[in-house]
Amino acid sequence: MNQTKKTQEDPDILLKAENLRYTYEGEDSPALNGLSLTIKRGKKIACMGPNGSGKSTFFLCCNGIHRPESGTLYYNGRPIGYTKKELLSLRQKVGIVFQDPDRQLFSASIKQEISFGPLNLGCSEEVTRQKVSAVMKKLDITPYSHKPTHSLSGGQKKLVSIADILVMEPELIILDEPAAFLDPFYTETVHNIIRHITEQGITVMMATHDVNSAYLWADEVLMFHEGRLLKQGPPSKLFSDELLLKKTHLRPPMLLTIFRHLQSEGIISKEFSAPKNMEELKSYLSHQKNSGS
Ligand code: ADP
Ligand code: MG
Repeated sequence: MNQTKKTQEDPDILLKAENLRYTYEGEDSPALNGLSLTIKRGKKIACMGPNGSGKSTFFLCCNGIHRPESGTLYYNGRPIGYTKKELLSLRQKVGIVFQDPDRQLFSASIKQEISFGPLNLGCSEEVTRQKVSAVMKKLDITPYSHKPTHSLSGGQKKLVSIADILVMEPELIILDEPAAFLDPFYTETVHNIIRHITEQGITVMMATHDVNSAYLWADEVLMFHEGRLLKQGPPSKLFSDELLLKKTHLRPPMLLTIFRHLQSEGIISKEFSAPKNMEELKSYLSHQKNSGS
């Protein structure tokens, strides 16, 4: 059933899914039902869409945990392979931070946990020790690194899950609803870490239901619906699409709502396009004020 194995040409494309179909064992309907999309290198991608629309299943296909029954997933221009060696190499480049840290963390101690990946790849004890210590410092895990993994808070476990992936220095990091179950402090901490990751040029794909942070953060939004891609594009475009929002049960981002209101009241000219962030909206307002209207 596999499609042609021809390699892709566009060097900007890191990941490409072509007509993926995946059905869980014992289920009648497919979780992925003809999913096609492209992910460009270095971009920040927000994956959105209702519960059950296939985001997590797609993520698990991206590092080969699930193998689609049909369709092709290309990584760096090549269809991904499923031999032990190919999967090991893929998982070094594509790291997933699961929604539930308890699915990710399995070592008794934090250092053991974060060391597992590099050691498994054949790094020496000394190199592993340096990498683990650097990532723990970066994520501020060091102060509680002596504690057993099971005793950590949900937020601390999330940071250790991210460290697990970051220590592998992947090209693509996938975060499945990273802020789920976190308190405001850890939500902010995780968002700061994600910002930092993207500044390093790593491609980040994140599932989220938070339209406000997706609007501000993402270069592109992928809108999932019933195991397919409904639409893909820049946040300002997708979140302006009322039909799309209705179909996916989403409300427009606050910034866009305020902007539209200011336009309809004649406070901001209709000529301005949707602002990317609060600073841009403020600059529209001062521009309008200075131009005397
Ligand atoms: P999302 O992450 O967008 O919420 P999922 O990929 O988790 O969506 O789910 C897609 C579909 O697959 C849903 O219908 C869900 O019920 C089903 N599904 C997910 N995980 C399993 C599983 N382990 N076994 C059976 N069905 C599953
Ligand atoms: Mg999910």
